[in-house]
Amino acid sequence: MSDLLDAIRERILKCRLCRLCELGATRAVPGEGSDKAEIMFIGEGPGSAEDAQGKPFVGAAGKFLTRMLEETGLSRDDVFITNIVKHRPPENRDPLPEEIEACWPYLEEQVKALKPKLIVLLGRHAMGRFLPGLKISEVHGQAKRSKGIWSDKQVYFPVYHPASALYNPGLRQTLINDMKKIPILLKKI
Ligand code: URA
Repeated sequence: MSDLLDAIRERILKCRLCRLCELGATRAVPGEGSDKAEIMFIGEGPGSAEDAQGKPFVGAAGKFLTRMLEETGLSRDDVFITNIVKHRPPENRDPLPEEIEACWPYLEEQVKALKPKLIVLLGRHAMGRFLPGLKISEVHGQAKRSKGIWSDKQVYFPVYHPASALYNPGLRQTLINDMKKIPILLKKI
């Protein structure tokens, strides 16, 4: 990882800006991947497996994401994976607006350090922060160009969250199909 991403990581590991640490999160999950990644994946927040290992998307939903990436011709080492909140919300509840707000500067810094060509928004929580007012059921699998953190023409690609698609056969195939569009989309940017 680049020195800059490493420095952000160190600060995230020490962060106590929201109450999630007091509510049972045992460690921060800053994110991981290539510092040359052209694609950044942003999920919702760590679950129990991620909290235990300190790595994003390593539980059941993460294994599904990893498999989809590989079937798409990408590996986790080629991309950068993180979440909108870096500590695990208790009982896997949705992150609260104040938790997302407290954690936002870290994500902003990660995006600025990485300058990704494409940001894949995993699920409605990540999408809501970058593309407010849209419905994931209406816009999943469609590239959206909008003002971004480092570029006025950031390309976002919202998709269903792997956890919601994992056990829902309809959504599952939809997510797989959407993920397969990523390499083609990247070539066009
Ligand atoms: N779900 C998320 O949104 N992020 C993770 O890291 C794991 C599961």
